[in-house]
Amino acid sequence: MTTNDVEIAIIGAGFSGLGAAIRLKQNGFDDYVLLDRGHDFGGTWRDNTYPGAACDVPSQLYSYSFAKNPTWSRSYSHQPEIHAYINDVAEQHGIPAKAQFGTEVTHAEWNEAQGRWIIDTERDGVKGQVRANILVGGVGPLCEPNLPDIEGIDSFEGKIVHSARWDNDFDYSGKRVAVIGTGASAIQIVPELAKITSRLDVYQRTAPWIVPRTERPYTKLEHWAYKNIPGYQSAVRGTIYAANEATAFGLTYSPAALKPVELLCRANILRGVGRDAELRRKVTPTFQVGCKRILRSNDWYPALARPNVDLVTDGIERITPTGVVAKDGTIREVDVIVVATGFHVTDSPVFEKIVGSGRRSLADVWSEIGMQGYKGSFVHGFPNMMLMVGPSTGLGHTSMVYMIESQLNYLVDYLKTVRAQGITRTEVKLSAQQEFNSDIQHKLRNSVWVNGGCASWYKDANGNITTLWPGFTFAFRNATRHFDIAAYDVVRGARRLPAPDIDGTTTSDQPATVTA
Ligand code: NAP
Repeated sequence: MTTNDVEIAIIGAGFSGLGAAIRLKQNGFDDYVLLDRGHDFGGTWRDNTYPGAACDVPSQLYSYSFAKNPTWSRSYSHQPEIHAYINDVAEQHGIPAKAQFGTEVTHAEWNEAQGRWIIDTERDGVKGQVRANILVGGVGPLCEPNLPDIEGIDSFEGKIVHSARWDNDFDYSGKRVAVIGTGASAIQIVPELAKITSRLDVYQRTAPWIVPRTERPYTKLEHWAYKNIPGYQSAVRGTIYAANEATAFGLTYSPAALKPVELLCRANILRGVGRDAELRRKVTPTFQVGCKRILRSNDWYPALARPNVDLVTDGIERITPTGVVAKDGTIREVDVIVVATGFHVTDSPVFEKIVGSGRRSLADVWSEIGMQGYKGSFVHGFPNMMLMVGPSTGLGHTSMVYMIESQLNYLVDYLKTVRAQGITRTEVKLSAQQEFNSDIQHKLRNSVWVNGGCASWYKDANGNITTLWPGFTFAFRNATRHFDIAAYDVVRGARRLPAPDIDGTTTSDQPATVTA
């Protein structure tokens, strides 16, 4: 087994983990490692390679503020371009040398005696261990595919593919395909598959609200302006940011203010479906706009209106070895089933792998109190661990990169504080965490997510919203500007190494040895 002793271990090389690595380096924290099970940077933008994958947030805002990209080709970026952007930024900042790819974290446990995290890894079947004073979790909430629990699904003899694990080597053309789900992923996949499949059955449980997608290629003049006019790109970014924040007001405090959005969605339905009254009825949602994520598309409704596409709203009874049986008894034989059924967000299997004080995992703790943390970053019972995009940081209206950069400010100030004050152990106080969460729940009480009459992945098994940041994102930016040490129990002093290792051997606080 190989071992590696570092000051900081970052898990995940997506927007969060890469951002953390860059900000650490810029601030003189060089003793860190970045672990990721994939083979390059990008996280969700590396993994989601399904046809039509693209971002719903404008390109100008969906990028790091410290690495603005004047060469985005379109006003909304598609997955290959975002993936390439993230890898370019990593290269520009010299992060690849710090990354260990193909490295799966199998277990991470806080060792009180040693005052550090023991992180077990596996790479090409070889076990390794990273021991770190501080753990930064950047695994993201949309990383563990949710496979639907439908009777008979395991008996299906054709091909089954999840949207986030797309098989690009498979030839879908001419096939009979069933798509389960009508969320953000499905509405991008279906228009592309509809062009090439012989038949496409779309199984809809809940119709989503969808606004038009104002996507277009940038002109040469715009590219010139982004490159050459100082401040122009920042001004465009700021304008998009401000416009999006207006939606936050409606979502959190006054759902009635979202009526114009609903009208825009209804016009989108009319334009896309045309005279087919039955299809219009099927695709018109019955909950308040904003309760689930508002989607963006111009080609979803026209795709559903195609002669080779059937929108099935009767529900799925079971799956047979050769097809799907709807609740009305109709059997539709298919060659391929696409499951676009989302992710384990509030019940991620990752939570079982992260074990804090008293050998209690995040799954143990959160199964009792719900997915709670302090400022989306620290969790009581998990010393020296900061989560990126943790509880209560999700958004329905603007760029997650803005939230991530806010957390990066908090991370850097936390590390500077720890270093300046000789702090060896930091744990958020339970009282601070409880107060923070009651404030979040109080702010959510009038929100459309609570009152809009829908089920969504924003809610946990008890119906509580533990994923979203209510209100304006600049409030989160302000809350995370400085590390507020009063909310934490801290221990100062020398590190307690060398000390007996977890397996009884002795380890020393020497520089890293290399993981194979
Ligand atoms: P999702 O929003 O959770 O949608 C899952 C879909 O599957 C829903 O339509 C859901 O129906 C359906 N479903 C789940 N279990 C089912 C079952 N057992 N039987 C039938 N239907 C079932 O997942 P997603 O589309 O992958 O999107 C997840 C998130 O990823 C988004 O909210 C967004 O944050 C992000 N994303 C963004 C983009 C973008 O920027 N364009 C693209 C893709 C993903 P119900 O609605 O009835 O639950």
